[in-house]
Amino acid sequence: MFTDTHCHLTDDYCANDKLDAVIARAHDAGVTRLICATSDANDILPAIKIAETHDNIFVTAGIHPEYAGMNPHEYITPDVLAHPRVVGIGEIGLDYHERNDNRDAQIKLFSEQLEIARQSGLPVAIHARDADDDAAAILTGVRGVMHCFTSGWNLAKTMLDRGFYFSASGILTFKNAAEIRETFAKIPMDRIVIETDSPFCAPVPYRGKTCEPFMVMETARVLAEIKNLQLDELETILEQNTLNLYPKIKQ
Ligand SMILES: [Zn+2]
Repeated sequence: MFTDTHCHLTDDYCANDKLDAVIARAHDAGVTRLICATSDANDILPAIKIAETHDNIFVTAGIHPEYAGMNPHEYITPDVLAHPRVVGIGEIGLDYHERNDNRDAQIKLFSEQLEIARQSGLPVAIHARDADDDAAAILTGVRGVMHCFTSGWNLAKTMLDRGFYFSASGILTFKNAAEIRETFAKIPMDRIVIETDSPFCAPVPYRGKTCEPFMVMETARVLAEIKNLQLDELETILEQNTLNLYPKIKQ
């Protein structure tokens, strides 16, 4: 079993009758567990609904930095946190690439959600873009995963020391991503998981298309090459890592 540890199933490519076909294509490819991340607070309840009505779909509930200014306590409620399919808090973080003029509001939203994670004991899925130093400074006292990790070895080393996992996305397959492949070559295999971040970042050979969870197999194949593993060996290790990262899946 492969898991797409971070996909957005509340987006348009899954709307209405399209979701079941997306899930079926993933299953046909061997990707039989999906973890749906939320960005928009208003997607949290719809994501939970999808998980409730489909086998092996789990949710990380969080508010992306592009929604800085929102109050996370209104959306990430005790009921949400206690839901059996909600296995983490995410995606949350800082994005100074998209917007640089509201850093304080981004840090406030991020810090409040980290506090929710600390109190609930749930792991976090972190989005950090052009904000490595601030993210590292704030990210203490929690465990989790650096989602769609594309930062350099410096941040990798810091977060490795804090027990974090690193998620490889379709970007790992890009021709111009040699540096990211080098970083993943250095990250210990027991700290890596894979994701699509669909509908974004479709891997080679699907670049330019809408990304879907089945495409995570392309990232798996490249990662297997980097780590000198057979695909079935990689599958076993990734499964263990996924369950270690999100222990609530097993409960
Ligand atoms: Zn995402």
